[in-house]
Amino acid sequence: MDRLGIGISASTEFTLFYIAPTCYNVTMPRQPFLSKVCPQCGIDKPRSDYYKKGATVSHKCKPCSLADIHKRAHKYFGKYSEYQNDWRSNRYASDAKYRKKIAQQKKAVYEKHKDAINEARRIRWKTDPYFPARLYYRRKDVKDKTPKGTSKKELLEIYAKCPKGMEVDHIIPLRGIIDGRPVTGLHVPWNLQYLTPTENRKKKNRITESDL
Ligand SMILES: [Zn+2]
Repeated sequence: MDRLGIGISASTEFTLFYIAPTCYNVTMPRQPFLSKVCPQCGIDKPRSDYYKKGATVSHKCKPCSLADIHKRAHKYFGKYSEYQNDWRSNRYASDAKYRKKIAQQKKAVYEKHKDAINEARRIRWKTDPYFPARLYYRRKDVKDKTPKGTSKKELLEIYAKCPKGMEVDHIIPLRGIIDGRPVTGLHVPWNLQYLTPTENRKKKNRITESDL
């Protein structure tokens, strides 16, 4: 025996073994392969064409793996969603790191599709009267412009007594324009009146001082 080497086996025990000049690569770290033949389509493809799987890569190439997943998806559709949703919401509530990761993911998606998202929001704000953001700001406006001590019962009565085919309107709009200048009305009983929808649409949020 002319050469003795020390290697670490899988069970992390030190073992002595003979290294012949021809098997030097025994102790060398395994090099990741650069390309491999996909067993499904039989094409030699580079490493980047396989999905990462821990330290190694998927058995089949990306398109073949995807096709395989789609072929089997119906078997699992909806089967574990409840369990997964529970697990995810539980983790979201308890794991601050995960929350941060999700926030980062959401931000990345927003940054990527920023212009399209904002354009869609703008269109929805203009056209959809039930757009959640619009409702949020409307409710906030109403809340902010209700003075302390206003009788909620009185206000609700006015809305309940609104005749059929009429609408409750703020005489001075909550967020309006009076003779070209901004004006803020209050959400109080004496600032409410009944108008027909046509009159209300015609009025918009614009008033003139002479009308009051
Ligand atoms: Zn393939």
